[in-house]
Amino acid sequence: MCGIVAYIGQKEAYPIIVKGLKRLEYRGYDSAGVALLHNGDLNLYKKQGKVANLEEFTEGKNILGNAGIGHTRWATHGRPSDENAHPHSSTNGDIALIHNGIIENYASIKSELKSKGYSFKSDTDTEVLTILIEDIINSEGVSPAEALKFALKQVIGAYAIVLLSKSNPDQLVAARKSSPLVIGIGKEGDFYCASDATPIIEYTKKVVYLEDEEIAILDRNAGLKLYSLDDVAKTPYIQKLALKLEAIEKGGYDHFMLKEIHEQPRSIKDCVRGRLNASEGWVSLGGIKDYEDKIIKAQRIILIACGTSWHAALVAEYLIEDLARINVEVEYASEFRYRNPIINENDIVIAISQSGETADTLAALELAKSKGATILGICNVVGSSISRITDAGSYTHAGPEIGVASTKAFTAQVTVLSLMALSLAKKKGTISDSKFRVMLTELEAIPQKVQQILDKNDEIKFISEQYKDASNALYLGRGNSFPVALEGALKLKEISYIHAEGYPAAEMKHGPIALITEEMPVFVIATQGPSYEKVVSNIQEVSARKGKIIAIVTEGDKVVRNIADHVIEIPEVNEHLVPLLATIPFQLLSYHIAVMRDCNVDQPRNLAKSVTVE
Ligand code: GLU
Repeated sequence: MCGIVAYIGQKEAYPIIVKGLKRLEYRGYDSAGVALLHNGDLNLYKKQGKVANLEEFTEGKNILGNAGIGHTRWATHGRPSDENAHPHSSTNGDIALIHNGIIENYASIKSELKSKGYSFKSDTDTEVLTILIEDIINSEGVSPAEALKFALKQVIGAYAIVLLSKSNPDQLVAARKSSPLVIGIGKEGDFYCASDATPIIEYTKKVVYLEDEEIAILDRNAGLKLYSLDDVAKTPYIQKLALKLEAIEKGGYDHFMLKEIHEQPRSIKDCVRGRLNASEGWVSLGGIKDYEDKIIKAQRIILIACGTSWHAALVAEYLIEDLARINVEVEYASEFRYRNPIINENDIVIAISQSGETADTLAALELAKSKGATILGICNVVGSSISRITDAGSYTHAGPEIGVASTKAFTAQVTVLSLMALSLAKKKGTISDSKFRVMLTELEAIPQKVQQILDKNDEIKFISEQYKDASNALYLGRGNSFPVALEGALKLKEISYIHAEGYPAAEMKHGPIALITEEMPVFVIATQGPSYEKVVSNIQEVSARKGKIIAIVTEGDKVVRNIADHVIEIPEVNEHLVPLLATIPFQLLSYHIAVMRDCNVDQPRNLAKSVTVE
């Protein structure tokens, strides 16, 4: 999320910053902006949309300065707009600041600052931090760097920050916690700073990766100084960049898809951040809070989606019906909209879409709205059309997904829907306190368990090798693992072009079992849970017909291991949350098989990322 580039030195800053922002555009392209210091003036240029819009805006203008900061935004707080674009400035115009991350307690800080008389131009959490720094400078009489240190002790959340000020024109001040920041050390007091090394690599190979809760002062006269938040001076650890430009753009991964698969421990964590606290025993989805009474009284919830999002909706059907005891229907948006569906004002219609732009889903929502239903959205892209037309909704906060085959967006959708199911169940009183607490703890532990599965990458790659030449594949699951089977099959077909079908395991004997031969790989989710024994029987049926069985089982399983050709163990988890884990090995299997078949993993043929046509 968000790309940061900053420069201070002898050269003109603007061309360096703009070039760097373009390299970081994969991190977000809601808006772009720069702030430049020239002859004692701090000038800001900001534009909604891509970096190209900013370039167009600044064309012909005399944009000078050899100190500057730039940002390409992936909005979290406040829709994409010129006003919400970074850099943000203090009310007195002395400071400009760029930020990547989320200041979770921005609302309370903002109201305190408002009560002191400060006014705000944007809806962002970042402007709140900027004005908090201004307030500290005003009240304590300290430098911007000192004030940033104080401010960061007050904020809760994640950040990578670079600050530029008129009062200290020879310095950039940078800080980080959870979000990345790299400092490049150039010649003759030249310093660079960026979210990753791509904007820096052509100027210098000497870099310092800032650690969590470190503050760096990049001073063109005094050099680089590093401090901890509690003011202990630290020695910068200078590293030599060895990576190629291309490779860094994908964070060192061969493909965006692989990178995104590996990002899931973090993206799931980002998704639950501020929405769940297991030790205090609460869950809260701010976006839909005001609608929860209406939802629990509704006769039914209709979930509308396409593709992978439709699979997330199917998982949610199990979750919401079982935990909150509300009737759920899952619809393909494209079918729903042309079916003359019966909808009224008692219905709750929830659209699920990564991009928030999916044409069929948008149209289905508009139809539901015209019939008086309450319409809600679950999207990844902030400020997208769906998020704008819905009455309310929740963002998945998975970060930009570039690989066309959705991975981290799916698990983030399932995470939001799990939070929603729990919140509704608690409010409706359909879940016991003890079960609620257990589930919160389990949900909080998911990122770490996902990491444990990702650590089995080599094992999964070995299994992929065995099935890379298959022409067909079956995916089987029961209960909430059935949608995981569908998603597994979709991943395989969209990137490796192997024909694959997902089926409820028990349905196999009603047709697909006729396809089983020695050539047919059958991927089965056979984790511990209410239907475990039944799935084991289904596996026996495949085995009896010599099909190849690749089973996802719970750690320590002995029974399936004796029947299957391969097993992939996943950590033990509450049965409702199995989809969040069981889907990970399928993503990796599809990825490796596609690579082994020489397929274009990130841009599979005939597909596009955000489906804005029907
Ligand atoms: N929270 C900041 C904003 O909304 C930064 C966004 C980000 O890093 O994703 O502008």
